[in-house]
Amino acid sequence: MPVQQGFHFSQASLQDFVNCPRRFQLRYMDHLAWPAVESEPALENERYMQQGQRFHRLVQQHAIGVPAQRLEKMINQEDLAYWWKNYVSHGITLTGNALSKAEVALYAPLRGFRLLAKYDALVFINNEEEGKALIIDWKTSRIRPSRRWLAERLQTRVYPYLLVKAGACLNQDNPIFPEKVEMIYWFAAFPDQPERFSYSAGQCAQDEAFLIDLIDQIQAMGEGKFPLALDETACRFCTYRSLCARGESAGKWDEELELGDQTGEQSPIELDFDFEQIAEIKF
Ligand code: SF4
Repeated sequence: MPVQQGFHFSQASLQDFVNCPRRFQLRYMDHLAWPAVESEPALENERYMQQGQRFHRLVQQHAIGVPAQRLEKMINQEDLAYWWKNYVSHGITLTGNALSKAEVALYAPLRGFRLLAKYDALVFINNEEEGKALIIDWKTSRIRPSRRWLAERLQTRVYPYLLVKAGACLNQDNPIFPEKVEMIYWFAAFPDQPERFSYSAGQCAQDEAFLIDLIDQIQAMGEGKFPLALDETACRFCTYRSLCARGESAGKWDEELELGDQTGEQSPIELDFDFEQIAEIKF
């Protein structure tokens, strides 16, 4: 069995498997550190990622009650200042709701393993007229992805599914019905264009079957090397590209934008800060 008992799956690791089985193996099974940059210029990319991380921290502090004016004084970078201004004026605020949770993790058993998700924010609204469970994900990517691209992401399937299966403990032990769940992507650079996905019992059943099938595919891989990505586009922004003989130099930021233009699908390669991945990948 390629994956041993105790292994936990997440949207990030499953997405890696879908994009490139070899990357899943190198990153999550072998824990292989490979010193290549993901995109050029490297320093600019690192600076951008750090700002994304700081934005998530600011929102988390705001959610637990630190006044926005106080947080604003800690901002000394241009992108971050712009995102924060957008958040304060357009963002979905978490303050004032006793059942708002920022940066929380949930897990549930699936196929003998653990399925894990770390949420940027959850908001539960329980009253007689409406009951809702909102999943909010802050995105600081440079481009606004299309709805179709987001709909196909594992994140859009794993987060609502796991909230239904395991989220009652965060909702005063009230069960969370699929029809009450909504997933919202909010883009710090595009504050007027959030993307919202409703959920349903039918989608929940489909997601469960899909996730089980993915885990079974991983288990069926055998003990050897997993196959490389069929689509080499992913390799241009992958740290393992020299190991896989898929190129020495990193893709450039503006290539990322061009790719979106060529396909008509805004498809940001995963250079956004991801709270889940930062916490998960330990080399
Ligand atoms: S370089 Fe390409 S083939 Fe190798 S792990 Fe990365 S995405 Fe997969």
